[in-house]
Amino acid sequence: MPCWLCEYNDDPLARSLSRFIQDQSIIMGPELMAERIHEKLIEKCPMADGIGLDEVREHIMVHTLHPGVRIACIMRSLLKLTDKLEGITMVLDEDTGNMVVDAKNVSVYLKVVSEVMQMYKSGEVNKLMFALDPQHKTA
Ligand SMILES: [Zn+2]
Repeated sequence: MPCWLCEYNDDPLARSLSRFIQDQSIIMGPELMAERIHEKLIEKCPMADGIGLDEVREHIMVHTLHPGVRIACIMRSLLKLTDKLEGITMVLDEDTGNMVVDAKNVSVYLKVVSEVMQMYKSGEVNKLMFALDPQHKTA
């Protein structure tokens, strides 16, 4: 079954939900956006009956190619990775019983942090944050 949000992208509700995704992607993660959109679809659109939360999430994370949305998804993913990597920069040295720096994990951690910093320095912060069309400014 095709994605309702893709198939009916010209529908005023679908358009408004696409705009919601673009505007909110920096503020809220895809999970919360999917919940909000799912609630709205159930409330306002009998045609979308049967659309599941997973499908809405997939629409946001896979089908939506808007650069601001993609960059926000990538940024969230990189930041999750930095949290995980940060947790394994120290390991137990079985010979001494001491916690020691794991140089390999530190190196990967620093590379990921560097990528995040590059995204911020890319000069596209306005797009990143939020990829609003010039004509579309929210108050
Ligand atoms: Zn879709």
